[in-house]
Amino acid sequence: MVILYGILALLILFAAIVLLRAAKFKPDGILPEASEKPDLNFEKAVSHFSELIRFKTVSSYDWDEVDEAEFEALRTRLKTLYPRVHTHCTREEVGKTGLLFRWPGKQSGAPTVLMSHYDVVPAVESLWTHPVFEGAVEDGFIWGRGTLDTKGTLCGILEAVEYWIEKGFVPAQDVYLSFSGDEEVSGPSAPAIVRHLKERGIHPALVLDEGGAVVDGVFPGVTFPTAMVGIGEKGYMDVRFEVTGKGGHASAPPPHSLLGDVARAITKIETHPFKAHLTPPAKEMLETLGRYSSFGMRVVLANLWCFEPLIKVLFTKQGGEMNAMIRSTVAVTRAEGSKAYNVLPPKAYVGLNLRLLVTEDKDSALEHLTRTINDPRFEAHIVDYRSASPYASTASDGFAAVKRAIEKTWSSTIVSPYLMLAGSDSRHFSDICDHVLKFSAMHLSKEELGLIHGNDERIAVEGFEDMISFYVHLIEML
Ligand SMILES: [Zn+2]
Repeated sequence: MVILYGILALLILFAAIVLLRAAKFKPDGILPEASEKPDLNFEKAVSHFSELIRFKTVSSYDWDEVDEAEFEALRTRLKTLYPRVHTHCTREEVGKTGLLFRWPGKQSGAPTVLMSHYDVVPAVESLWTHPVFEGAVEDGFIWGRGTLDTKGTLCGILEAVEYWIEKGFVPAQDVYLSFSGDEEVSGPSAPAIVRHLKERGIHPALVLDEGGAVVDGVFPGVTFPTAMVGIGEKGYMDVRFEVTGKGGHASAPPPHSLLGDVARAITKIETHPFKAHLTPPAKEMLETLGRYSSFGMRVVLANLWCFEPLIKVLFTKQGGEMNAMIRSTVAVTRAEGSKAYNVLPPKAYVGLNLRLLVTEDKDSALEHLTRTINDPRFEAHIVDYRSASPYASTASDGFAAVKRAIEKTWSSTIVSPYLMLAGSDSRHFSDICDHVLKFSAMHLSKEELGLIHGNDERIAVEGFEDMISFYVHLIEML
């Protein structure tokens, strides 16, 4: 009986602690209202933007397919579209397509780098409502390839700098504008710019490139829009596991063909995922968004000390982005056996695409896969690899400035760190900067998110104006 009472008392104590912590797990204050829009000629900015869309700056892994004249023409046109930028900043062409501006500040402290890229992915013209490279302004939208990814931020940055120069504003420290024309093909220009800055001993206090956006309904129970600011980027690895046999005629097959072995390997890989970790970006995201969530979610998230395993199970079951934020992932993307129906495969392989947390490198990832497949006949070949970027701190002045600029642009918006799952040029900057942030300054609906790299890519005129306003607010704090 005494034991029973003891257990009961412990249970009550446990429930009390859990509920008390959940009750205290609340937002820090009221989400601020946006500031007035800057007194900028937005109409003129839209016409500049339309014009930039018209340059067919489609990048390709095959440089022979690239129309370099279009890239050159865009770079040249910037000189007349943004005359003040070109008189007050130094402009250098770096690497194959890189464009680097330096806007001198009052002091010589660590500078800020604002990044974008002006190359775009290809489009199938016949599937679009408006021409892909016309920059049509219709139905309250600016249409065209690159409006979201990411000639919008290119234009937003330049409009904002032009605006401030006209006002006679001088930033406290130097501001660099770093634009590449080969981001979509993981090209050499951003690395060339980083090398160039490194040679000059420059270590930026903040680098801001494309990344998360302001989105809705991103987290269960959260009804406010949320600005997702990437504080790190996952690593990337393509690997191929190959098995070799005798081949032969398909009329008298052995009990198991090589493809059967590959299938077994795939099953093992898919049933043995990498271990889950509540990484710093995931933890900070839960800590930020959890406060705005339903009471049920707050009970769990305010008590990660006991519910962390539960969260990992939930995210794993949910799959998709939440799962990808807490573990290195493997996608089985390719496989091949024989070239003909009537020939046993002399060779078979499975191709895997991995996205790695910073806790994993190519050796440890390969070890995990080899151990999982557990068949010495399989030979591994790494086809491509780049390491994950280290995590930026959210306690920096740079993060605070980006947060404040977001709050001044979008009313009642939560600013949350997260781990970016895709890649961007800014990963190269981790070599010279500890504070690399990834945020695309736009509020996108679920539908608009799907337009990135898709058909009918377009941005609302108002959204484009907010994009410029964001950079205007941010620059004022630099
Ligand atoms: Zn992009």
